[in-house]
Amino acid sequence: MAKKKKTKRKLAHPKLPMQGQLDLRHEGTHFDLRPIFDDLNQRYFHGRLRHYNVIWGRRRKHRPREYFVFGTIQEEDRIIRINPALDQPFVPLWFLRYVLYHEMLHSVVPDETLSRSRRRVHTEEFNRREREFPSYRRARRWEEENLSRFLR
Ligand SMILES: [Zn+2]
Repeated sequence: MAKKKKTKRKLAHPKLPMQGQLDLRHEGTHFDLRPIFDDLNQRYFHGRLRHYNVIWGRRRKHRPREYFVFGTIQEEDRIIRINPALDQPFVPLWFLRYVLYHEMLHSVVPDETLSRSRRRVHTEEFNRREREFPSYRRARRWEEENLSRFLR
């Protein structure tokens, strides 16, 4: 039996395990992402997205002015991040649901490889399924009309 030395090293910045930190970050000021995710998962994906964390991303000091990223998905770690700028009262719930649906769809529709260095994530299949989302057209219109509010 190997003897284990007890280390008394103190961490300068004690951290919770990653999972613990993420668990709390689905609650925003206006929207809680968790129940929205769960509802979409049941309604449109037969509960297929398992063990995903859905969290509000961090606010960035230097945001690009030319484009705005509403959400991202990191499939290896099963994390969907939603831009915290969407956690505002003027954002309709159906728009936030659309943003979440879009990211969730990435986890079930495979990417296409175009060449060694290029992949297409918004494939025809992806676009077709995205359009099936009930408030798709309304959401895209709202996005166009309100994009300037996020780009500053
Ligand atoms: Zn996308």
